[in-house]
Amino acid sequence: MTKEELLEQIESQGIKYIRLQITDINGALKNVEIPSTELESSLTNGTMFDGSSIEGLVRINESDMLLKPDIDTFTVLPWTVEREKVGRFICDIYTSDDKHFPGDPRYVLKKVMNEMKEYGYIPYAGPEPEFFILPRDEKTRQPVLSPLDKGGYFDLLPIDLGERVRKNMVETLQSMGIRVEAAHHEVANSQHEIDFRYDNALKTADNIQTFKLVVRTIALLNGLWATFMPKPFFGMNGSGMHTHLSIFKDGKNIFYDPNGTYQLSNELRWFIGGVFKHIDTITVLANPTINSYKRLVPGYEAPVNIAWSVSNRSALVRIPMSRGEGTRLELRSPDPTANPYLLLASVFSSGLEGIKNKIEPPQPVDGNIYEMDYKEKNEKNIRYLPGSLQESLEALKKDEFMKEVLGKHIFEKFIELKEKEIEEFKIAVTDWEISKYINQF
Ligand code: GLN
Ligand code: MG
Ligand code: MG
Ligand code: MG
Repeated sequence: MTKEELLEQIESQGIKYIRLQITDINGALKNVEIPSTELESSLTNGTMFDGSSIEGLVRINESDMLLKPDIDTFTVLPWTVEREKVGRFICDIYTSDDKHFPGDPRYVLKKVMNEMKEYGYIPYAGPEPEFFILPRDEKTRQPVLSPLDKGGYFDLLPIDLGERVRKNMVETLQSMGIRVEAAHHEVANSQHEIDFRYDNALKTADNIQTFKLVVRTIALLNGLWATFMPKPFFGMNGSGMHTHLSIFKDGKNIFYDPNGTYQLSNELRWFIGGVFKHIDTITVLANPTINSYKRLVPGYEAPVNIAWSVSNRSALVRIPMSRGEGTRLELRSPDPTANPYLLLASVFSSGLEGIKNKIEPPQPVDGNIYEMDYKEKNEKNIRYLPGSLQESLEALKKDEFMKEVLGKHIFEKFIELKEKEIEEFKIAVTDWEISKYINQF
């Protein structure tokens, strides 16, 4: 669609307001609203805004930024239909002197995709985000930490609130142009998953941000609360965001090789080699919160060890059965607190490095890794994923490659923000400590 066609459409549909959206370093969606009469100027010159209060955005002495709407991301926010209609764009962030702002996570992903393009590669990704739908206290309007239902994996419930709300979410996503492929109740009580179709990495990262906004908004409009916190309940599965990855060149999936072992190509193996090489650092981007590491423990279908498998779901990387165009790898560690732009940038840049340098990963593993003792893991060269935010952050500090990928600005800001979070948690006294020690000592 051209700019003129778009403006015409906005006018004829009676869209009165436009939200300009960006993502901060933490992965939070932010927006500013303009009347649609200002859109033409915004599409031509960008919209000035003060970035100084947005996390990780600003450099000292430089807070005026430009938002440039990406014309391909236009959609109407369907839940405003009853009031005035509101449209939205996802934007790129520029400095006031019209350069790409290095603190824009979307730009980081675009840079990686441009580098891949030099090899003729287009990266594709498809996520499986999971989340909990919780009741909301009517007075405080806050989420209540008790599951809404007793459902489990793929359960069909008598028409309950969770199911009705989930359907509402799916329909909203569809009306915004996101192609939902499946939706189901997940393993834990009150836990759900909605999968949407894979697309190029940028589109998928944008879609993930839209997805989270839709899920939260629809829950709220139904008097409920949706959370993407990775592990809200002790003793139950946490919420992950398995991410399926493939690369196409000249319209063909380069991970497929009809003559390769398991019909998989060398490139797929090397890609895994590159990802494993940087996995400690990828982890800090895939699992960027303190709580993320409460999910990455044995026994809850979340990965703990660095291994790949053509079948077993306890591995960090699994190769799903489909071949041909559908050949892909499933990275099972990410959770939905990840900034999707930085996550995909870190994974694809590492994979590309693997392909360029023909980095061999260890042999694939078949058995259930949760059940192996440490000797067997040693023999098979299976290492643990970082067990805490501090551990993965330490790895990032030493990873010059990832510093290059993220750019100095985001690299430093991210470390600063995460150090603060770790410090905050360190001084907190948790319920677990109280119940463990108050009587014992
Ligand atoms: N919830 C699990 C996780 O934390 C995944 C469960 C599943 O999709 N089979 O990754
Ligand atoms: Mg799934
Ligand atoms: Mg799932
Ligand atoms: Mg999966």
